[in-house]
Amino acid sequence: MSGETLEFQAEARQLLQLMVHSIYSNKDVFLRELISNASDALDKLRLASMRDKDLDVDTSDLHIAIEVDQDARTLTVRDNGIGMTRDEVVQVIGTIAKSGTAELLRKLRETTDAETSQELIGQFGVGFYAAFMVADRVVLVTRQAGEADGTHWESSGEGTYTIAPATDVPQGTAVTLHLKPVDSEDNLHDYAAEWTIRQIVKRYSDFIAHPIRMAVERPGSDDSESTTEVQTLNSMKALWARPRDEVEPAEYHEFYKHVSHDWADPLEVVHMRGEGTFEYEALLFLPTHAPLDLFSPQGRRGVQLYVKRVFIMDDCEALMPGYLRFVKGVVDAHDLSLNISRELLQQDRQIQVVRRRLVKKVLATVKDLKANQPEKYRTFWTEFGAVVKEGLIDDTENRDSLLEILSVASTHDPAEPTDLTGYVNRMKDGQSEIYYATGENRTTIENSPHMEAFRAKGFEVLLLTDPVDEVWVERVGEYDGKTLRSVAKGQVDLDTDEERSAAEAERERQRTEYADLLTWLGSALADQVREVRLSARLTTSPACVVGDAHDVTPTLEKMYRAMGH
Ligand code: ADP
Ligand code: MG
Repeated sequence: MSGETLEFQAEARQLLQLMVHSIYSNKDVFLRELISNASDALDKLRLASMRDKDLDVDTSDLHIAIEVDQDARTLTVRDNGIGMTRDEVVQVIGTIAKSGTAELLRKLRETTDAETSQELIGQFGVGFYAAFMVADRVVLVTRQAGEADGTHWESSGEGTYTIAPATDVPQGTAVTLHLKPVDSEDNLHDYAAEWTIRQIVKRYSDFIAHPIRMAVERPGSDDSESTTEVQTLNSMKALWARPRDEVEPAEYHEFYKHVSHDWADPLEVVHMRGEGTFEYEALLFLPTHAPLDLFSPQGRRGVQLYVKRVFIMDDCEALMPGYLRFVKGVVDAHDLSLNISRELLQQDRQIQVVRRRLVKKVLATVKDLKANQPEKYRTFWTEFGAVVKEGLIDDTENRDSLLEILSVASTHDPAEPTDLTGYVNRMKDGQSEIYYATGENRTTIENSPHMEAFRAKGFEVLLLTDPVDEVWVERVGEYDGKTLRSVAKGQVDLDTDEERSAAEAERERQRTEYADLLTWLGSALADQVREVRLSARLTTSPACVVGDAHDVTPTLEKMYRAMGH
């Protein structure tokens, strides 16, 4: 056997260090992570065998086995799933491809607070590496379905791992943990004990759709030997198929962690069922935290598709529009073909109907949070508002609902964002438009000369700081019959009729007085500006540059430039 010692990628090494010297107090979750991976591997094998008729594999007894060796103090999680090739092991175990890793590590370095570190790890989720919280050596032996030879991988989590070819390996993956000594102060339980394993599986993995088996000793009676029997530890009930009032919140939470790979509890659960022509069940979740790859093009969508309890695909973009890409969960559609492809799915009538209902339900859920659980709504909007607003650009069907759940910063109250209804209710007599200003941040906008006249008049201005804001305000155009008007564009008319005629007379006087100056400025700046005119919008600044009503704004210009236009 020709083994090799390789180094973990730098990010992986740092993350492993954190796991080895465990900053995460709930060590039990390592088993949830290993079982979750095993379950994914079984789903992948079933799919592969359905897609590829030439793949010669036995899928009749897909299961997960937990094996304990008391004397050696090892715990093995074995599956007969898809397995990995040598290259895959190097790729996915030796490196972390997850976007946001560098960002996470930077944040972790910046904090000295244990609780914050835990929370960060929890938001990120470390998957397989969690094994190093409870083991000082981890051995992974795997053989990919369809391949003849396997791979042996081993590491103590300290910077390097060894990898070697292996023969006589059963198909699938076995992860063996050489357990650290029990240390109750450090929350290291006896993970070789049947009772501990049972508890953890029940608590975190009960809904896993494949059997999780373990051989247990049954003491004999006086005259018989003790016997071992193999038991299935999980109920395997599909959570989404159970009636809502029979599911405990904790069960929803653990299920969420399995589908999302998140370690934190979800913010809200949406459990629905569609009857009639198209039958389906959906169990969706709003996360508590935005994932670090929310704005990365490789960022994945979170809804899995099942057909009658059979896993069909991850990351089903046909079920959720891009602006709800952070929603996680499962949709089980009863009447689809098991072989449906991604491409066909996009055009499938049934899927389109389901998607419309899911979107409406998610938006209704947010609306409900806004009305009844403002704290949760605020968390939601802080984390996901910038993404949800993308929906205002294209999803005309749900535009009204989106405008209802929207909130934005405003000059009305520095601490409290407002919704559009709130703004309209506070509009002054004679004010007919909704004013907004865009910019990089609140301070920049507030210091901009464009704001002066509005401040002087006491008009409220919405302060929009997300790049997407520029686009949706243009696209939406108005709310409740009132035009959305940028403070930086075109002629802004802030006065009542009386004030206007007085101001007009004054302006006329000024125009005569300053005519020479304006002409001179106009020709001196001819290359830079279209026109120099006297303005009523400034109260303290001497001059400002304004765009035409249809010009792109500076922020948008910046955004386009960043996108390479
Ligand atoms: P995640 O599950 O979020 O992708 P993990 O760290 O848990 O992250 O696992 C990393 C990758 O390793 C998985 O995506 C998968 O490709 C591979 N992997 C882990 N465990 C197994 C397994 N039991 N069988 C096959 N592949 C596995
Ligand atoms: Mg995982």
